[in-house]
Amino acid sequence: MSTALIAGVEVDTRHWIGGRRVGSAAGFADVSPIDDAELAQIARGGAAEVDAAVQAAAAAFPAWGATPAAERAEVLQAIAAGIEKRVEDLAVVETVDNGSLLRSHRRSVMPRVAHNFRFFAEWLGQLDGGELEIREHRERVSWQPAGITAVITPWNAPLMLATWRIAPALAAGNTVVAKPPELAPLTASLLADITRDAGLPDGVFNVVQGLGTEAGAPLVAHPAVARVSFTGSVATGRAVASAAGAQLTPVSLELGGKSALVVFADADLDLAVANALEQYDNAGQVCLAGSRLLVEEPVAGEFAERLLVRIAALRQGDPRDEETEIGPSISRAHLRRIDGFVRRAVADGARVLAGGGALAGKPGPYYRPTLLAGARPGSEILTEEVFGPVLTLQTFAGEDQAVELANSTSYGLAAMIFTGDRERAERTADRLVAGTVWVNCFFVRDLRAPFGGTRNSGIGREGGTWSFDFYSDVKNTVYAPRGWRSDG
Ligand code: NAD
Repeated sequence: MSTALIAGVEVDTRHWIGGRRVGSAAGFADVSPIDDAELAQIARGGAAEVDAAVQAAAAAFPAWGATPAAERAEVLQAIAAGIEKRVEDLAVVETVDNGSLLRSHRRSVMPRVAHNFRFFAEWLGQLDGGELEIREHRERVSWQPAGITAVITPWNAPLMLATWRIAPALAAGNTVVAKPPELAPLTASLLADITRDAGLPDGVFNVVQGLGTEAGAPLVAHPAVARVSFTGSVATGRAVASAAGAQLTPVSLELGGKSALVVFADADLDLAVANALEQYDNAGQVCLAGSRLLVEEPVAGEFAERLLVRIAALRQGDPRDEETEIGPSISRAHLRRIDGFVRRAVADGARVLAGGGALAGKPGPYYRPTLLAGARPGSEILTEEVFGPVLTLQTFAGEDQAVELANSTSYGLAAMIFTGDRERAERTADRLVAGTVWVNCFFVRDLRAPFGGTRNSGIGREGGTWSFDFYSDVKNTVYAPRGWRSDG
């Protein structure tokens, strides 16, 4: 068990520790959601492998942390170039591994993976705390490397989400131990090859494969880890936060969502419908998805009609086909979970306007794009994250009710507003509880901007300087005006 040929690409299935490939006695099966075929047996790491990786990261930290920022940035740029060279390999491997659309991986996701490294390499050169002055004393803010960073990520956008944390951590001068998602572990291994080829010193980046409880938990609890960056579900986020909390290790949590997409009667309805349809992207397995459609009463009927036409035309199938618009869910177990949500919602009074079950005759776990209406206020389907292609439709009368409904979950990741009235947009955006609010758009975001959730959707913000604030020890140095030898 050392390498596997995945869609023609050789992928090492072992860990990457201290610049070496390391195996484990046990393995776990990595299955493709496209057709339920087993892709490979992956090394199943535990506390021993985690400890070895942390030791390697600790040994590499003094030199990497002391490497001048410009040199660190150069290595990050070389990693970005390596990713750009291998976009096709990364895209095909990620698609067979997690079932997301190949064309998205080729055109946007993998280029964005490279951009994560380029962006933080460039931002590192621009970090500037400015100069403060108090009673003639000069204060200088600097960002010092924090140490070993644990990066734990989910399967829905494995390499994109991992590099969004790995790149700033490395740029900040930290060393990294990544624990990729067990349901889509492959591209992290290719990233290890790319970092090696780019000249990243041994031990600066390490990968321990394995299950959450066996490899993730000991990593988070390791006393030598200085930062924990976690992306995943609320339940795991709580476990991660309490394990890290026991060591007072700072954590950044990017968790789930149950975002509202609010359509006012004065909105451009075509635009609103097109954006509502986008919430099925990645088979609804997007933390930011606006899975609750809230539509103002006068236009709700027309909105639903137009949306249903568009849903009926969605082409679902093999994510490797150019024409496919919606692929499979990640696993059979996840499909059953999605279906459970829908069945319970229907038993609780919701009506199925579209979908409502698995697609017949498909080899993998394909859930049909589903739209539910008439769900009971406060019911599970309106308050819990499904993480599948299931949207709910609710109506409202006026701004106050829109805001009340939108804010009526324990989440606060994102919200979308569709309106033709700029002042209404500003008023409403201010009242919505969400880390990101999109007005008449979705998913557009500058990496310089803060990203994160409020309430149960997470703790902390990343992006631009916010990322460096988390991955560094921010220091203030105060210089007195006197006491210099040159003062005479
Ligand atoms: P998950 O919480 O089950 O797993 C996430 C990662 O945590 C995996 O790598 C897993 O192995 C690991 N893990 C599991 N138990 C652990 C433990 N006890 N200690 C340490 N690590 C552990 O989540 P998932 O099902 O893989 O992903 C879906 C969730 O991720 C959804 O809730 C989604 O909204 C969320 N998500 C959030 C964002 C964001 O940016 N806010 C982005 C993508 C996905």
